[in-house]
Amino acid sequence: MSLLEKLKFGPDGLIPVVTQDARTGAVLMQAYADRAAIERTLETREATYYSRSRREQWVKGATSGHTQRVVSVHADCDGDSLLYRVEQTGPACHTGEYSCFHAPLLAEEPPSTGLDGTLERVYATIAERLATLPENSYVARLHAGGLDRVLKKISEEAGEVLLAAKNGDRAELATEAADLLFHTLFALAEVGVSPADVAAVLQGREGKSGLKGPKEVG
Ligand code: AMP
Ligand code: ZN
Ligand code: ZN
Ligand code: ZN
Repeated sequence: MSLLEKLKFGPDGLIPVVTQDARTGAVLMQAYADRAAIERTLETREATYYSRSRREQWVKGATSGHTQRVVSVHADCDGDSLLYRVEQTGPACHTGEYSCFHAPLLAEEPPSTGLDGTLERVYATIAERLATLPENSYVARLHAGGLDRVLKKISEEAGEVLLAAKNGDRAELATEAADLLFHTLFALAEVGVSPADVAAVLQGREGKSGLKGPKEVG
């Protein structure tokens, strides 16, 4: 029996579909699909639903152009709902909002759990400043000073990270680590290494224990 046959459609022949932005993780919309809409989605990779009001198959973006390229389809644990993960073109909501879920009844922001794309954004800013070299830009000044000076700056910042850690000064350590990361990002941008290149190395090591550090003898 195929997974499709195990899905539990409602008495109306429909199953709820939650659609998520595969790039950002944001929940974009919730709609319904019938069997034919799911089959079309799987075949064409275009998110296809069933409109309950119009009682017809509905290819997202057919009139608005705001299409969704489907990268995965998952059933939930008991097979009574689906998740489409998509690459969204333009806004997902017909109101023009990026996500349909833009009307908060309660909206406590979760505490940030990490860097949340900050490094990518800073890298993009550095790359943009390097391309345009605006006056008053610190990046432009670093660039004018030459790469060697920046590399020296990185080792200075590393020394400051080391001192702050040694002193157990948490605020100072966060600041110095930020300086070190910033100047490292600058060097990456100058040499043309992207955050994705660094992430690929880190991800290649993820979940493996007992790896040797770069300078350990082995
Ligand atoms: P579209 O598929 O974007 O070309 O929009 C076609 C029609 O589908 C719209 O006029 C709406 O009725 C409906 N629609 C589009 N996007 C959504 C959505 N995110 N949620 C509910 N209905 C939608
Ligand atoms: Zn469950
Ligand atoms: Zn369920
Ligand atoms: Zn909407």
